[in-house]
Amino acid sequence: MAETLGGDAGAIAALARMTRARTMPAGASPFRVEAPALSRGKFSDPEVTAAGEPRAKVPFVALETLWFNTGTLCNLACATCYIESSPTNDALTYLSAGEVARFLDEIAGNGFATREIGFTGGEPFMNPEIAAMLELALGRGHEVLVLTNAMRPMRRHEAALLALRDRHGARLTLRVSLDHHTRTIHEAERGARSWQPALEGLQWLSAHGFPIAVAGRRLAAEPDGDARAGYAALFAREQIAIDAQDRSRLVLFPEMDAAADVPEITTACWGMLGRSAADVMCASSRMVVHRRGEDRARVVACTLIPGDPGFDLGDTLAEATGPIALNHPHCARFCVLGGASCSG
Ligand code: SF4
Ligand code: SF4
Repeated sequence: MAETLGGDAGAIAALARMTRARTMPAGASPFRVEAPALSRGKFSDPEVTAAGEPRAKVPFVALETLWFNTGTLCNLACATCYIESSPTNDALTYLSAGEVARFLDEIAGNGFATREIGFTGGEPFMNPEIAAMLELALGRGHEVLVLTNAMRPMRRHEAALLALRDRHGARLTLRVSLDHHTRTIHEAERGARSWQPALEGLQWLSAHGFPIAVAGRRLAAEPDGDARAGYAALFAREQIAIDAQDRSRLVLFPEMDAAADVPEITTACWGMLGRSAADVMCASSRMVVHRRGEDRARVVACTLIPGDPGFDLGDTLAEATGPIALNHPHCARFCVLGGASCSG
């Protein structure tokens, strides 16, 4: 599509064209897609695919990034939140600063050479110990990335954030979710009155000199260049200091249906796709979660699959250094194929 989506009216018109092949009830998120459901029998055996071929695995290369999920509670209940966060979902309970310290100690003690600590949720600033956790990670010399919606929960921590910025400078980055460069599409996904508070939070971070990034999305038929142009216009208009052409500062995720059918990934797929297993996220990162009802936090393969027992790796980092069998639809959809295909 050559047209740039400069405003809500343009976005609505373009959205109507983009979604002509879909069923999208009034008020539904434009990021929810009708698609054939996942075939039964797939992703059931970690060693072989439904067709009997050897399943691809990702080796552990290094723990470059350790993510902490601070808990699934969130001030929003976005229509397609992959972790189904909401103001009432505490399936992942609040992580404690003590648990974060335990894993940071293990990193230091075992020489994991971890560069970055990430915090995600839910909304991390809902966790009452978030400031202490950030201080722990920054105080150990790590770079820290926090994924936030920049709304009221974050704004309640303004004084703590300013103090962290003063002590640790540019090592603290906040990445704000802004689901689209138009209010209409953002709020169709995130709910009414979610746009202006997020923009104001982003403006506050920008005005106070924090390193910031935006996590956005583009619709299925919206070219990357059009989406970046839309965000660039928004950032200029709202005085948000982000270069929309910088892919590390404006991270755009394509629209994908988490329930749609996908091929399984076999060992032969790497060669067909020209991909290396070592480049997949779980080669270089892990995530810590604390599930409701469990007595301590545990390590899982990645941020995308917090609850599947097949991706639970133990309660220490040392136990979590084995290869990961790509036995979940997310592995194919989000990490390996991303819209491409192979014969698996
Ligand atoms: S703000 Fe993020 S964590 Fe919260 S419901 Fe939306 S997508 Fe999920
Ligand atoms: S979704 Fe699968 S392939 Fe992707 S990071 Fe997680 S475990 Fe690895």
